[in-house]
Amino acid sequence: MLGRHYHITGIVQGVGFRPFVFQTAVKLNLKGNVCNSADGVLINIFGPKDSLDLFHEVLQTTPPPRARIDFLEYGEIPFLNEKEFRILPSQDIESEFLPVSPDISICEACRKEILDTQDRRYHYPFTNCTNCGPRFSIIEKIPYDRPNTSMKSFPMCQSCADEYENPLDRRFHAQPVACRSCGPQLTFLKYSSDRIFGDRALLAAAASIKCGNITAIKGIGGFHLACDAMNETVLRRLRELKHRSNKPFAVMAKDISTIQNYCFVNPDESALLQSAAAPIVLLKKKADCAIPEAVAPAQNNLGFIIPYTPLHILLFEMLSPEIEVLVMTSANFSEEPIVFGDSKKDLELLEQLSDNILTHDRPIITRIDDSVARIDQENRLIMIRRARGYAPDPILVRQHMRQILATGPELKNTFCLTRGNYAFVSHHIGDMENVETFQAYQQEIEHYKTIFRVVPEGIACDLHPNYLSTIYAEKLSNETGLPLIRIQHHYAHIASVLGENHQFGSESAIGLAFDGTGYGTDGFIWGGEALLCNHQGFDRVFHLDNFLLPGGDTAIRKPYRQALAVLSANDFSWEDSFQPLSAISDREKELLKIQLEHRINCVDTSSMGRLFDAVSSLLGICQVISYEGQAAIELENVCDPFCKEFYPFHILEDRILLKPVIGNILDDLQQGIPKSIISAKFHQGIIKLCLEICDRIRETANMDVSVALSGGVWQNQTLLCGVRELLQKNRFTVLLPKQLPYNDGCISYGQAIIANEVMNRMG
Ligand code: ZN
Ligand code: ZN
Ligand code: FE
Repeated sequence: MLGRHYHITGIVQGVGFRPFVFQTAVKLNLKGNVCNSADGVLINIFGPKDSLDLFHEVLQTTPPPRARIDFLEYGEIPFLNEKEFRILPSQDIESEFLPVSPDISICEACRKEILDTQDRRYHYPFTNCTNCGPRFSIIEKIPYDRPNTSMKSFPMCQSCADEYENPLDRRFHAQPVACRSCGPQLTFLKYSSDRIFGDRALLAAAASIKCGNITAIKGIGGFHLACDAMNETVLRRLRELKHRSNKPFAVMAKDISTIQNYCFVNPDESALLQSAAAPIVLLKKKADCAIPEAVAPAQNNLGFIIPYTPLHILLFEMLSPEIEVLVMTSANFSEEPIVFGDSKKDLELLEQLSDNILTHDRPIITRIDDSVARIDQENRLIMIRRARGYAPDPILVRQHMRQILATGPELKNTFCLTRGNYAFVSHHIGDMENVETFQAYQQEIEHYKTIFRVVPEGIACDLHPNYLSTIYAEKLSNETGLPLIRIQHHYAHIASVLGENHQFGSESAIGLAFDGTGYGTDGFIWGGEALLCNHQGFDRVFHLDNFLLPGGDTAIRKPYRQALAVLSANDFSWEDSFQPLSAISDREKELLKIQLEHRINCVDTSSMGRLFDAVSSLLGICQVISYEGQAAIELENVCDPFCKEFYPFHILEDRILLKPVIGNILDDLQQGIPKSIISAKFHQGIIKLCLEICDRIRETANMDVSVALSGGVWQNQTLLCGVRELLQKNRFTVLLPKQLPYNDGCISYGQAIIANEVMNRMG
């Protein structure tokens, strides 16, 4: 007879881990106890060696589906003659911490219950269990117990309490457990008339959507605006209300087979749609796709999501067969944070965005958007917006981290807190261009600090002096006296990918950071960079030749200005190119000439993203954008996939010259070569360029070097797949992001791991 003590950390709370331990122990006739502590699950277990070994094996091989074991430590303890196996109350150790489970989409068992007329939870829209339901969005602090969640205001009825306390029940210690008689309730409100409650609220909402109205629906992380995706009139109204002219809307379909009427869905995409995270998945449209163009103008893809809460499932029960696809877009004015509360101010905002509201009384603690992801041509997950279902799942770091707050970039902001072997990268916060987002950002930082019990010893921020995240970091550093570490944007991009691949160390790697814009060490705007870097720092080995960005943000919104700037920088006459000129007024043209000549409000840039914009304009594809990346996306969309011709780039010292490529494009345009071919030759040119760059660096370094890819430009599939394939053919190891996006959503993590190195060197 032996005794063993286990300490298990990872995602082991709120996912049915203790009942699993309990049931396994009872089955094997072992005695002892298990409890949650602030830093994991603790087990004391006693019995014959064979049974203990079997227990150990089960623990490691078949943990509950939503659990994730990061560390499992165990050791021998003296044998105690216990009578039974028990679950003990949680222990809170003040200084300790633990990852928190992300929100989980509805499980199969709960789905069956809400559709079963005989079940006591039939049609109850807040059904959940240990395998599913809200988690992160309802947690106020740890340990994860009901009084520390927004379910604290709903005392359990006897039936729910029985389930909650029975270790053999699926709802044992499911903190948000509830039913019709004790749990949250729906309310439907029109702005002028009486409120409707419960099942009738759902009916009223469905009826209203069928009539062509917009309903604001409270979900897991905030309100969605829902309307019939096939109704062009309501789509037009929704765009007007949201002040959103072209940016694609996400759509929710009743189920996968409904989606297949409109888009291709391969097995990996289907699995991702139905996964516990249930993100919006970008899918390729079928040629005969009947979803109106107004949902996602000029797109080859649609962002589909399937019902991931009981409420969504029940809503489609009432809507179908008339409506099987809904627009489900976040309730906000474009670029402001999603509305998530029920205060008077929130309702006033919603009134401007919708015709009526379907809400409920379970408060949302943390506002969190739907995640957006896609599967690439090689069946890999590409994260685009990491939020509900993924955050706050930490990135596992192999070394022990100092406690650091990395404040992230300006656009697509996330921040990151590190502690122990974890990097907690926040959910997508958004573009910090308005007060509302900046306020939300500061609140979320405080919230993450509380739930993960991080007390920063250092602060990391971007080099850009005017980013709100930089200003915030400076202020915090001044107030607290904590060291502030400024980190170059593209170094952070590459460090993030190296870190995710456990390659951020003394060995140097090539980083191809192809991006929109980021502040360089020379005060210019970088974004087409080939770096050679390791944990000590980086060399900027090659970069795109600079051209002027006239008027910063204005230029970014108007690709024709970038096209004309690229022409000027490379000694081409504007009259050589018809398309950008056709988009500019005579007056703006005169001003732009003067502006470029005298470098008024202009900044030098080497951005690859801006080069894509310029080419898109030269080809007459996109002259003015209404969402980020639009010109480049539309340029890729016309690309002929079978054309393998290319425009050669030339490299002069550390500069990648644009003149030959632009000259070739102008020639081809003059000869009437189709856009699809020009776009392809441009893409293929960059693919060849990447190999050339990497070959040169490898030759100089005289050793094998891996290549890490990061930056928003890599969301271009033609480029990503082309470069990866060509580099691998030439014996390069290509490192890609895993859990984090290519875009600026990864910056905070890169900042954190670089800052950790800097602080280690400072001692
Ligand atoms: Zn469930
Ligand atoms: Zn109940
Ligand atoms: Fe970036």
